[in-house]
Formats: sequence, C-alpha cells, structure tokens
Amino acid sequence: MSFEVNEETRGFQSEVRQLLDLVVHSLYGNSEIFLRELVSNAADALDKLRFLALADDTLYEGDQELGIRVQYSQAGGTITVTDNGIGMSREEVVDNLGTIARSGTREFFNALTGDARQDAQLIGQFGVGFYSAFIVAERVTVLTRRAGAGEDDGVSWESDGQGEYTIHNVKRRRRGTEVVLHLREQAREYLDGARLRGIVHRYSEHIPFPIRMPREGEGESGEEVVNAATALWARPRSEITDEDYREFYRHVSHDFDQPLAWVHSRVEGALEYTSLFYLPRHAPFDLWDANERRGVKLYVRRVFIMDAAEQLLPRYLRFVRGVVDSDDLPLNVSREILQENKQLASIRAGSVKKILGLLEDLTGDRPDDYALLWKNFGRVLKEGVVEDAANRERIARLLRFSTSREDRRDNDVTLAAYVQGMKEGQRAIYYLTGEDFDAVRTSPHLEAFRARGIEVLLLSDPVDEWLVAHLGEFDGKPLKSVARGVLDAGELGAAPAGSEAPVDDAAGAALAARLRAALGESVKEVRVTHRLISSPACLVVDDGDPGAGFERMLRAAGREVPRTLPILEINPAHPLVARLADEADERLGEWARILLDQALLSEGGRLEDSAGFVRRLNGMLLQLLG
Ligand code: ADP
Ligand code: MG
Repeated sequence: MSFEVNEETRGFQSEVRQLLDLVVHSLYGNSEIFLRELVSNAADALDKLRFLALADDTLYEGDQELGIRVQYSQAGGTITVTDNGIGMSREEVVDNLGTIARSGTREFFNALTGDARQDAQLIGQFGVGFYSAFIVAERVTVLTRRAGAGEDDGVSWESDGQGEYTIHNVKRRRRGTEVVLHLREQAREYLDGARLRGIVHRYSEHIPFPIRMPREGEGESGEEVVNAATALWARPRSEITDEDYREFYRHVSHDFDQPLAWVHSRVEGALEYTSLFYLPRHAPFDLWDANERRGVKLYVRRVFIMDAAEQLLPRYLRFVRGVVDSDDLPLNVSREILQENKQLASIRAGSVKKILGLLEDLTGDRPDDYALLWKNFGRVLKEGVVEDAANRERIARLLRFSTSREDRRDNDVTLAAYVQGMKEGQRAIYYLTGEDFDAVRTSPHLEAFRARGIEVLLLSDPVDEWLVAHLGEFDGKPLKSVARGVLDAGELGAAPAGSEAPVDDAAGAALAARLRAALGESVKEVRVTHRLISSPACLVVDDGDPGAGFERMLRAAGREVPRTLPILEINPAHPLVARLADEADERLGEWARILLDQALLSEGGRLEDSAGFVRRLNGMLLQLLG
C-alpha cells in the first residue's frame, strides 16, 4: 500500500463559479431545497447502483440494503447525508462536482440577466443540484468510493464554494457517498431533527428508498425510517389494493374521509408520466378561496417538486387531489417556468381528459355518487364551460340542472335529457337565471312555458350567467333566456285552449304607449307580452343588454357598469291591466309604478325605493276602501 502525495487544489470551471455565486445569492429564500437535492442525488446513486448490479451483483459488496441516512451534529454544526449507492471515482468527482457537463450550459449563462429574481427563475429551469449545498454550507466535504473499487480508492473532496476545491484519496471501507455540510451561521436553524424530518416529508416522502434518521427523545437510541419510502403511484395498478389507494388519498389530501373515486394511469411515448387523481367526497372549507393552491402535487421522477395544482389542472378542477409524476421535466423546475412549459401543457391537457373521463364513468356507473359530487362541486365544474373552451362540449354533458318540469328531480336533468324532452317545433333550450332558486322557480316568466308544457332550466348559481353566455348552444339548439328579448307567440306554439284570454292587440299597444310615457326614464320600453298568463306584468332584458344579474356580478367584481333599463311587458288579458285602459293619466302614473315594482318583486328582485312602493300601494288601497 503506497501513500503517495495525492492532494491537489483545483479551480472550478468558470461556469460552476458563476452558478455557485448565483445559487448562494438568489436562492437563499428557498434554502431548504438543499436537502431535497442531496437526497435526490443519493436516490439517483442508489438507482444507478441497482441498475448496474443487475449485470454485476458483486457491486453490492455483500450489502444489498439500499438506503439514505440524514444526520446532524449540534456540536459540529454539520448535516451529513449518506448513501450506499454507486459512489464516485476520483475522476468522476472532478467531472461531476467541478464542472458542468450539461448541454445548454452556455445558453443558460447567456440568458442570465444579472437580476437576482429573474435569474433565480432561470436557475430553476437549469437545475442547481449538488451546488445548492452551498446555500446553507460555508464548506462542503464529500467522501465517496465507487462501488466495486478497492478500499484505498476512496476520495475526499472539499470546497468553500469560492472558486477552488481540494481533492485527495482516502481509505474508505464502505462504498457510496457521504456529503458533510458545515453550516453557515445563518443556517443553524437546520440543526433540528423535527425541521429536517419536516423537509424530508415535504419533498422526499415518496423517494422509493428508506431515509433513516437518529431517533429523537430521551432514552431513544438507534435509527428510524422517516419517509414512506414507496411511491404508490409508480407501482403497477394490479399490485395496489383499494385500501392502498385510500391510504394514499389521506396522505395527499389530508382528508380523513374516503375518496369518491380515483383514476391512476401511466402515459408512455414521447412524453412519459404517471398520474393518480382523486375525487373527494365533500368540499374542503377553502374550495372558494381563489388563492387555494393545494390539490395536485407535481413529482419529477418520484421527487416531489411542488404543490402545483394551478399549473397541472385548470381552476374548475380545483377540487381534484392527487399526484402527477413526470419523467421528462427538469428536477428543479420553478413555478414560473412551469407556466410556459410545453411538456407541462400536454400533461395538463391529458390530465383534464383523464378526469373528465372519470367523471363520465361515474355518471354512467354510479349516478348516486355523481349526484353527490355534483351537489358539492357542480358549481365549480360549471366554471369549466367558461374556462375550458376545448372541452366545453364534454363538460356540458356533465352538467346537471333543475327545471320547471314537476316530474323532474332537482339537480338531475342533463342537457341531453332536456333536448330529448323538447316539444315538437321547439327550437331553443329555454332557461331562466336569477339570484334565488325559489324566486326563479316561481317567476312569472315561466307562465306561458308551463302552460304549454315547455321545460325551462332554472339557474340560480352566480356562475350561471357566465355559463349560459359561454355555452351558447347545445346539440345545435341555442340557449335562450325566457326573460330576454322578444318572445313571439309563434315561437311558443299555441297555448292550450282556454288558458289565455284573447287580447285586443291595438288596445294593448295603446296602453303600453301610455304607460311608457308615464314611466319615463325608468324603462327602456313597455310592450304587450306573450310570456304571461296569470301575472299582470314582468320585466324583460333587451337583447344585447347584460341584464340585472350580470350587472350585479360585474359590480360585485368591482367593475363600473352603466345601468341598463328593463323592458316592462304587460299582460292585457289580466283583469287589472284590462281595467287600466280606462284610467285617467294622473292615476295611470301611479299604477304604472306599481306594475313596474311588482314585476321586479315577482322575479325576486329588490326594489330601490321599497318605501315608495308601499306608500303608493296604500294610496291605491285607501281609494278602493273609499
Ligand atoms: P444532477 O443530479 O442533475 O445530475 P447534481 O448537481 O445534483 O446534478 O449532481 C451532479 C452529479 O454529481 C450527478 O450527476 C452525479 O453524477 C454526481 N453525484 C452527486 N451526488 C452524488 C451521490 N450522492 N452519489 C454519486 N454521485 C453523485
Ligand atoms: Mg441532482
């Protein structure tokens, strides 16, 4: 055995110097990622050994129990990450820890701007890997020996990350790598078992190797495995029981209830990824919180990257929980980079299809479960019609409605079922929107439709105004509001005999003109209606106007919206309206206001001047009493 002088000091490749500088200065806010990177490297080394040992099992050197160890020393101020993986030869250490061999390195450095924030995002795309150790360490020592090499072929590498490193051979009995971080003063917070475990749970729970840490607590000794050490989703479906899936759901969702359904799939080809999505049984308390970010976790090759629900799935699927594991994305991809990543865009599109497929299966196989899902998440799913034009048709088929037909169950009618139930000659899918379901259900706008047995969708969710605006049509049939535009009698077909008194059109039009004059700027128009049977009047939104509900929503969203005026439609067949024809102008003015106000009330609207309405009504009542 010869002990030649083998220590040498070498300079880092200039790109490494730049990278180190960048890492330390721009990633301090993300310092905890150092552990993820080192554990990930350890896992890679274990993966490599496992692979090479397939051909040559002497590489195991009699130790087949692959694992990772995380230790810390308060006294020494160090954190040590050890693996018994493939290890490195001296040459490999020089190549891997002193240079960057990756393709695109030059482009990366050319793209740097000098602006720390922007460059931090670029680093995310490039990947900081091993060098992230210097975010928290003022000095890093790597002790390693290649599997299968002799005991004297161990290597010690050490650097303060300032531009140079020293390297020399050491005696190492065991194969694999040990990375010792001599922490900076500001990073001593990491010398804490609970903190380190937390980071392991967050980022490395499903690394498919056990990560061991010393047991904590008085009288405790020895070590324990601190991660789950299996990536459930990476196992073949045939090996996973329903109970396994449920366990894992609890883990990803923090929901103690059971999931309603799940879909686990592997996509292979140009882009490879695995996804496991769950539908929860009930809504989380923060379903309506626009900043909610939890939901679907992104992994790259089984390394947790981030909670990235908002990049992996569109907002209307924000109730879905689960995991996407990509084989192709860079390990240190940042949120900002994900936004523009093409691979992620196709993962996202594929994931949406999977989930829509799962929902479709549920509607067919387990309608009661789908009804439960619809009850909890229907209002969220409806946003998909607005948000996801590419899948609008599919989402439309998943929608469920209440309708004006008495023989239908609430929240149970599909658009397809509606179309099937359309009357002969009916061309449109009719709907009515409003703020309050009961007001919509009893609205006078439905009278003529009810009388003819024409079904009307009753919409009272805030998103419904957007829904109908974006859906436009279904199965070639336009969606048409029963409270908007002109409704001509021909469109509805004949009323059942006796349900409507014959109307003298000329007299009705004359009265409408007088009411219009009396109401002045409160209305856009007054006209005779075909909508009503038992009510005297109703309000209609002009084609092209947003309508009261829509305006309310825009205002609630902080937008300034000019008030558009309603159209008052009167029913001359109604005895009250019929009598008005004989009223003198001054009294007609009072009646006109009452008609207008009660039309608004009857559709569930709120009067601007309710005291004025009551005063006028009482005045009329007094006159009646004489
Ligand atoms: P990456 O993991 O993306 O390749 P890193 O900067 O994390 O980049 O690591 C650089 C290289 O150093 C790795 O590719 C590997 O060859 C080597 N390396 C780092 N850590 C280990 C380890 N624990 N065991 C063996 N090789 C390692
Ligand atoms: Mg790495």
